[in-house]
Amino acid sequence: MALQTGATDILILGSGGAGLFAALHAHQAAPRASITVAVKGLLGKCGCTRMVQGGYNVALAAGDSVERHFMDTIEGGKWLPDQDLAWKLVTLAVERIHELENELGCFFDRNPDGTVHQKAFAGQTFDRTVHKGDLTGIEIINRLAEQVWARKIGRLEEHRAVELVKSEDKKSIAGVLFIDMRTGEYRLVRAKAVLLATGGGPTMYRYHTPSGDKSCDGLAMALRAGLRLRDMEMVQFHPTGLLAGRHTRMTGTVLEEGLRGSGGYLLNGERERFMARYDPKLERATRDIVSRAIFSEMRRGKTTPHGGVYIAMGHLGPERVRREFKGMVERCADCGFDLAGGLVEVVPTAHYLMGGVEFAPDCSTSLAGLYVAGEDSGGVHGANRLGGNGVANSTVFGAVAGDSMATWVRDAQLSIPDGNIVDEAIRRCEHPFARKPGNLEALRERLYDVMWEKAGIIRDARGLAEAASELSGIDAALDETGLGNADRAFNLAWHDWLNLKSLVGVSRLICAAALAREDSRGAHYREDYPETGSLESSAFTSIAADGRVVMKPVAFTRVRPGESLLKNAA
Ligand SMILES: Cc1cc2nc3c(=O)[nH]c(=O)nc-3n(C[C@H](O)[C@H](O)[C@H](O)COP(=O)(O)OP(=O)(O)OC[C@H]3O[C@@H](n4cnc5c(N)ncnc54)[C@H](O)[C@@H]3O)c2cc1C
Repeated sequence: MALQTGATDILILGSGGAGLFAALHAHQAAPRASITVAVKGLLGKCGCTRMVQGGYNVALAAGDSVERHFMDTIEGGKWLPDQDLAWKLVTLAVERIHELENELGCFFDRNPDGTVHQKAFAGQTFDRTVHKGDLTGIEIINRLAEQVWARKIGRLEEHRAVELVKSEDKKSIAGVLFIDMRTGEYRLVRAKAVLLATGGGPTMYRYHTPSGDKSCDGLAMALRAGLRLRDMEMVQFHPTGLLAGRHTRMTGTVLEEGLRGSGGYLLNGERERFMARYDPKLERATRDIVSRAIFSEMRRGKTTPHGGVYIAMGHLGPERVRREFKGMVERCADCGFDLAGGLVEVVPTAHYLMGGVEFAPDCSTSLAGLYVAGEDSGGVHGANRLGGNGVANSTVFGAVAGDSMATWVRDAQLSIPDGNIVDEAIRRCEHPFARKPGNLEALRERLYDVMWEKAGIIRDARGLAEAASELSGIDAALDETGLGNADRAFNLAWHDWLNLKSLVGVSRLICAAALAREDSRGAHYREDYPETGSLESSAFTSIAADGRVVMKPVAFTRVRPGESLLKNAA
């Protein structure tokens, strides 16, 4: 098998908010360094940053403060976030939003007095979400991509990273092995610094929101490279994914929180409004609570024809709904639903992985030269991510990583890649070509079902243990499911096979971490341990490739449970 080779100073995996910000900052700080962005899709057209609807959290307005944003983040994360990372998030978000507007050319919505408009989002004590209508992500990614295109930054598009390759002495990163998806050839790119910014993505659940190019590849690669992942049990479900049947990819896509915020009702299949049984805040309760309530109604069998519940908006007046939620009314109409006047079927949908690679505030990891940012990283959000903190996270830490890598490459040399790692990775990727073609679709359906039923919104020890064993079965079946002697160029079945490999591996981590956490917190709910443990002795899960979980105490470096920074705030 021919191996193409190349070299660059800085190699960035992924072109979401994290990857593109890293490229721009690295270029600014080290203009003579060679920088390459390698991405599974097309630069600027893939990943979830582009899909951001709601907006970007940042403390800008008079009366708000970074301390308040910090406290909302810590309390929302149920005291599990790394406080130094969370502090960096809230303070640097202010710099990044100014950079986005004043240097990179984003237009965000404004108030009549010229100040930036900031809207309310759940779980926050101040209206601080900056947005461009409900297409905020497109505005951010289009401007970032234009700026990257305008600079001398290399691009490897439709290149799928398959392995982080260490140096021969195993002490540092030496490069990354890719599949050029257009030709099917392998390409080894050597680099002094590598950024992992492939955006996580819980697409192993039957219902999910992230873009189809995301299959937890970065997390799977990090684990094989010996890095530890934290908080992997923390999977956020958005309560209202559109439910339009199994035949359409529209199923699972988000109907935004604003619907419930403005007075939308949830009704079960018997048309009863049920939220009062679960929380006094009714439909305005937080995402985790509403998702659990819906899932409970589904388990009671009180479902709609497609197996979910309904959202009703008509009582607010169809004209108003059409005016305020134009995009969503049209999207529902495309699927045959009348959001303005009728009922729309919805279901909770896997939205975001709070867990990811353990990292330091400068985005470095335990492997010298390897950096991580965005949804691949863990520790910023703890047990729950506030809506609006996701894109803030990817842009803030992408920029930090770009600055750090620029400093690192000044003194670093290219290392010799460990050839055994390359050979072993190619052997793993080639594996399905030596097996007879089988039914990948059936395996994907099994994965969806086991994660949704046994490792999803409501968990217990028995279900998680069953899930772990079923995942081993799916993995073994995947190893026996091949592609035959097929052409490798644009071979989507091959990439499906590789996607499933990453997803099954990361699903096993989710189950192991969920089994280890014997309390209920934020997004993680154990029916057999429904109480939240002592906040004072909060610990996060940390998992390695062998699947063993260690509970590590949270360091309360800025504030302890029961205290608030707001008392000291100006
Ligand atoms: C529908 C939707 C709405 C959202 N709305 C909001 C919101 O309103 N506010 C908010 O804060 N957050 C929101 N989020 C979350 C937010 O989008 C993410 O937190 C954030 O954009 C992640 O940025 P990222 O750069 O880490 O990853 P992404 O933007 O997802 O980029 C990942 C990149 O990695 C590439 N990649 C993946 N695998 C590989 C591989 N093997 N090799 C090479 N490249 C690879 C992908 O192609 C992509 O380019 C939303 C998410 C979704 C799905």
